Amino acid sequence: MTGKFELDCSYCGHRHDASYLEVRCERCDGPLIVNTDLSPLKAGSTSGQDLRDSALPGMWAYFPLLPIADRSAVVSLGEGNTPLTRAGRLAQDLGIHTLYLKDETRNPTGSFKDRMLAVGVARACELGKKTIAVQSSGNVAAAAAAYAAKAGLQAKIFVPRTAPEEKLVQVLMYGADLFRIDHDSPTDIFDLLRWACDEFGWYLVSTAALFNPFTLEGAKTIAYEIAEQLGFDLPEWMIVPVGGGGNIGSLWRGFNDLQALGLVTRLPRMVGVQAAGCAPIVEAIRLGRTAREALTCRWPTIDTVAGAIADDVVFDAHIALPAVRESHGTAVAVPDTDSLAMERLLASTEGIFVEPASATTLAALKQLLDQGEVTRQDRVCCVLTGLGFKDMTSARKLVPPIETVPLDREAIAARVRGQ
Ligand SMILES: [Zn+2]
Repeated sequence: MTGKFELDCSYCGHRHDASYLEVRCERCDGPLIVNTDLSPLKAGSTSGQDLRDSALPGMWAYFPLLPIADRSAVVSLGEGNTPLTRAGRLAQDLGIHTLYLKDETRNPTGSFKDRMLAVGVARACELGKKTIAVQSSGNVAAAAAAYAAKAGLQAKIFVPRTAPEEKLVQVLMYGADLFRIDHDSPTDIFDLLRWACDEFGWYLVSTAALFNPFTLEGAKTIAYEIAEQLGFDLPEWMIVPVGGGGNIGSLWRGFNDLQALGLVTRLPRMVGVQAAGCAPIVEAIRLGRTAREALTCRWPTIDTVAGAIADDVVFDAHIALPAVRESHGTAVAVPDTDSLAMERLLASTEGIFVEPASATTLAALKQLLDQGEVTRQDRVCCVLTGLGFKDMTSARKLVPPIETVPLDREAIAARVRGQ
């Protein structure tokens, strides 16, 4: 390897060097995967300290493992370095001994997508692009708009009509150009956006590796952090919400990097969670579909409040399916009612307010515990991907109506005594 990375085709294995600018394989049109050169790190890497470049902030401390060559292209809002919380009260409620929560809501715009867009926007800067574009249900939109603002780039944001208004206000505050499309299917909106990128010369900073192989490298840093936070002793299970599949695929690839570096010996089993009303990866695993087959299978009707993972196609099946299969994990579909109950339970026991897509992980954990698939003694880590403030419409339905009480001692006393 001559540069910091190469681009490997995930279908035919054909290798492209770092200067290759297309997003698909030149031979078979397959999706590309960044193949990072780990050899400079292998030399003395026994403690994990060599992974870090402490001169760079947050997630960018893993610069040696990220596919950006030019340090001056780094764009940071302080993403990464999120807490790994040991959930005591919630674990007790669920009947499990050790439950960790990787709290990605603490990223600058409130979701793990900040890690991906930080890399995507840095790559755009490296390439000298002036305008970036994304398709998103909201989290990618907010992150793209914020990082573009920081880097001084224009951002064109395409969202489905169902995107929560809180997320759209956030996008507009960051000064992006918003296109709310009168349609639900991410696949169709993607097609429209790809046309617009060709037509107007915008740089597509998709978090689907299928359309941009660089962004998901940012999400691998979640795996590096979890490993460091647990002293390189990984849990038995990782439970991750799945939309397009980039997150679960990135985590698995990140853990594999650490194994290749000799820093971990045992890898976790990966659980991909979707809402029952949009569960194409669950179906793909159940039916034994290949990545190519999964790409052609669109979920017919999206019906879930977990908008952040309501992708009707597993765009990154080429990395998401191997994550589940190679790790001997599983894919789980959960009803919205269970996820919403967990959203409230998590907030009221651990003080962490997430959006419904994140709460699916806890609903899945409960299901797996009930089925005996996960045992009480297993150590489990759930990834909480997005902040609850991003979807107040769902949250409002989970709490009682807010009533006004008079400025009056008797009224307060009556309320306290339940009269
Ligand atoms: Zn190929």
